[in-house]
Amino acid sequence: MNLNNTVLSAHDEDKAAYRAAIISTAEAILDSITSDEAFSGINPYELRERIEKLSLLPEHGDGWEVVLQSVKKEILPHMLRTWSPLYMPHLHSPALIEAIAAELIISTFNSSMDSWDQGPAATEIEVKVIKELCSLFGYTENGDGVFTSGGSQSNISALVAERDRFIEKKLGWDVKKKGLPDDFRKLRIYTSEISHFSFDKGSHLMGLGYDAVVKLPVDEYERIDTEKTRKIIKEDYENGLYPFLIVATIGTTDFGSIDDIQSLRTIADEFGMFLHADAAYGSGAILSSYKERIGNLALADSITVDFHKMFLLPISASALLVKDGTILDAFQLHADYLNREEDEEDGYINLVGKSMQTTRRFDALKVYISFRMRGQDGYRKIMDTAIGNADYFYRRINEDENFIAPIKPELSSVVFALKGGDERNKKTRRRLLSEGVVIGQTVFNGQTMLKFTLLNPVLTHKHIDELIERIKA
Ligand SMILES: *Cc1c(COP(=O)(O)O)cnc(C)c1O
Repeated sequence: MNLNNTVLSAHDEDKAAYRAAIISTAEAILDSITSDEAFSGINPYELRERIEKLSLLPEHGDGWEVVLQSVKKEILPHMLRTWSPLYMPHLHSPALIEAIAAELIISTFNSSMDSWDQGPAATEIEVKVIKELCSLFGYTENGDGVFTSGGSQSNISALVAERDRFIEKKLGWDVKKKGLPDDFRKLRIYTSEISHFSFDKGSHLMGLGYDAVVKLPVDEYERIDTEKTRKIIKEDYENGLYPFLIVATIGTTDFGSIDDIQSLRTIADEFGMFLHADAAYGSGAILSSYKERIGNLALADSITVDFHKMFLLPISASALLVKDGTILDAFQLHADYLNREEDEEDGYINLVGKSMQTTRRFDALKVYISFRMRGQDGYRKIMDTAIGNADYFYRRINEDENFIAPIKPELSSVVFALKGGDERNKKTRRRLLSEGVVIGQTVFNGQTMLKFTLLNPVLTHKHIDELIERIKA
């Protein structure tokens, strides 16, 4: 490939350049993988110094070969290798191989999801995938949804759409046109004290501020205490506040704990509220043998599903599903240059009307390809391995007097600690990092804890046994 080739075309020379770029990249990646370690162990100062030395915008371009060799030598060795069985700190998964191939299609065609004429097949596939996802999670024909950049954007989109609909119904006020009503400070969102921070962020972005987010207490299993919740909401309601949304977290980020969606639905109905299920993490369990653990998500008015967590698709891939598709009208606007109403009347679907984004990736293709390739049984095996490994690890450390593990896992995360104090746990994690083993750290009841987030489908009981020994050492 040389500097004269710019974009793909029907000409053999451009096709050859494309092939050469893709194949040489794949070879460089494969050559860089020489061990099972998740990380080279380099310290941040040394890595920064090396990266600072790299040239960025030379007077004359370096050409492909030079750049690829430099990337191979200076960058790839210090990339975090998500597929390593020694990587388990976050809800950050390795990517299924076929979904990496799907990324090649996505970026090669560079479709954009905003209007039909920027992605005809892409639009129709996203519509189909959304429809099937709605049915998988139990929504009927009124259900709809949209792909987003991640759980944060899915959550914030739900907040906006549900706030607008609530205010329209309660006060007959059009937020989209007029902005917030005078008494907007009465609006309240209720979510677990250990829920994801995107609700605080969203509340800020919506002009309601952090103070509008009421943090609900959790029980000994880290699930929302529903009795206390009802009291809190009832009191706020009777004091003239506007409680409009309860969030059920289906898989909290640290513990994977699952709020009781049935009870929260009852409370939401009593006070005329929306119920959102933040299932960014736990949604994957719908394809597992442990499906009943997450409850009936169709009871929620909206569901956040992240495909870049348990479903093992490359970042980014998330969807917001809604029970009543019309609430997504919150994002509908028409522009003469993009999504003309007359075209939509003639059957051209412009998905920009459902999204906060304008230009948007064709992430739905990854879901289409992986779901179809693996089927329900293939995915069940992946989900069952993750959840089963967490059960196994929890049992093993409970039998071992060196450890404590306060909460039995429901999904694939286990929070635990070595006995002997915070420093011992912190040092253990740092030491492992320098050896290429990356595990998580968090705080529980004021105590430093370690965390395994077990998403990797190739992880075995033997790996887990070895890790336990390594941590003890
Ligand atoms: C990961 C996560 C999010 C945020 O999702 P992103 O894809 O990282 O934006 C939100 N809620 C929960 C429960 C999560 O685990």
